[in-house]
Amino acid sequence: MAIANADLTIRELHAAVGRSAVLTDHQTLAARSNDRSAAASQGRAIALVRPRDTAGVSAVLRIAATHRCPVVPQGRLSGLAGGANAVEGAILLDMTGMNAILRVDPVEMVAVVQPGVITADLAARAAREGLFYAPDPASATECTIGGNVATNAGGMRCVKYGVTRDSVRSLEIVLAGGEVVRTRPPTVKAVGGLDLTGLMVGSEGTLAVITEITVDLLPAPGPTLGVSASFSSVDDALDTANAIVAGPHRPSALEFCDAGVIAALRAKVPESGLPADAMAWLLVLTDSAAGAGEDVRWYTQTARAHRAVRVDSATDAGAVERLMVARRALNVAMRAVRGGSLNEDVAIPRSRLGELLRRLDALSARRGVPIATAGHVGDGNLHPVILFDPHDPGQVAAAQQAHIDVLAMAQELGGTATGEHGIGLEKLGAVDAELGPRLRSIQRGIKAVLDPQGLLNPGKKL
Ligand SMILES: Cc1cc2nc3c(=O)[nH]c(=O)nc-3n(C[C@H](O)[C@H](O)[C@H](O)COP(=O)(O)OP(=O)(O)OC[C@H]3O[C@@H](n4cnc5c(N)ncnc54)[C@H](O)[C@@H]3O)c2cc1C
Repeated sequence: MAIANADLTIRELHAAVGRSAVLTDHQTLAARSNDRSAAASQGRAIALVRPRDTAGVSAVLRIAATHRCPVVPQGRLSGLAGGANAVEGAILLDMTGMNAILRVDPVEMVAVVQPGVITADLAARAAREGLFYAPDPASATECTIGGNVATNAGGMRCVKYGVTRDSVRSLEIVLAGGEVVRTRPPTVKAVGGLDLTGLMVGSEGTLAVITEITVDLLPAPGPTLGVSASFSSVDDALDTANAIVAGPHRPSALEFCDAGVIAALRAKVPESGLPADAMAWLLVLTDSAAGAGEDVRWYTQTARAHRAVRVDSATDAGAVERLMVARRALNVAMRAVRGGSLNEDVAIPRSRLGELLRRLDALSARRGVPIATAGHVGDGNLHPVILFDPHDPGQVAAAQQAHIDVLAMAQELGGTATGEHGIGLEKLGAVDAELGPRLRSIQRGIKAVLDPQGLLNPGKKL
């Protein structure tokens, strides 16, 4: 956009939200222009605005509409798809200052929060009241609830409690142009309208700005216990996982690592105790308030029945934490192998996971870059990690090609290029193939109704 217009826009922003809430210095804008993905920002923002309340967000969107200025809503920039990256001429709308937990209601079993609340802070507050906020992205200490809702974030506990969408009851949103609406009443049941809450969840800042979130809370679960099981074949591990999902003892996490990941974790976290010769590892947890001991016995039997070579039960907090430390070290451990890593996020029907892993091995051999895979096997959501030396242009190019191949592979197997991280900028190229022209045009039509000037996070997701 023209600079003259930018100056006027900034003066109006000063008047609307106060000078101290509008930052235009190069350093701030540069620091807030990229999330944690490898996607490049799409241009220079003109300002970063830190609204304090919904009225402030509304004022910003009104000014943006007047001057046809793009707006990029942002949480803590922990996203892995480029969704919060700057676009040319944009106002970066930093929502992290709207971080109040407004209410925890043990009768309605909800919490009402502003979008900038850090996910782990909400979980801790709920726990202090004897309640439970279920969604648990691995980034919980460094991401916001607003970002989680906008990306429909997942995590390890999805296998029992579902994704973020399953815990969002109602939203206050600000539409392009500045109008404030609530998507539905905060009652447990409400079927009076189309599901606009569901539409907003996962919309990655392209349809509206989320300014208040009512989330479901649950009764506090029991202490977490679990089982660590190693296998000499990937198929035995997958058969065990499928038997556990179909069985009567629902796990609160069901995680898989292949041999490449096991080797990287052993190197990074030697105290993990993972066996050197295992071809696959399952971590199965339960948080059942009554009967967790029985769950652990059943997971152990099931793993043994499917030829596990070693099964250890973790029946106290320390043992569970040691396993979790290993699993949480995934990203750091993988990056340490070659210096560079591309973390994929495919989700496919569980019945085809064996085929996916075999195809990944073949792809790795064809492209000449190692690919190691871990993830939420109970949801069919795996994170193949493509490893490369960032100083070797040949390997960088091979890794980027393998990235495109992995997305296409997931789609060929009846799945999706992204189970939880979102499309943002990084996976735009994969969406057309996945959704097809009819669904793409319906989605863009919905965008046109809600954001006719196309100002909200343009060039992302849709
Ligand atoms: C170490 C690590 C582990 C991770 N583990 C997981 C995981 O287990 N599961 C998972 O799903 N993801 C995971 N992620 C990805 C990331 O943490 C999530 O996508 C998270 O939801 C992003 O939250 P954020 O506050 O950082 O949002 P940002 O990255 O700032 O923004 C993400 C998207 O949300 C939009 N947005 C943000 N706030 C609003 C708002 N108020 N209104 C409208 N749109 C908004 C942005 O425009 C952008 O499109 C991980 C990331 C890291 C770095």
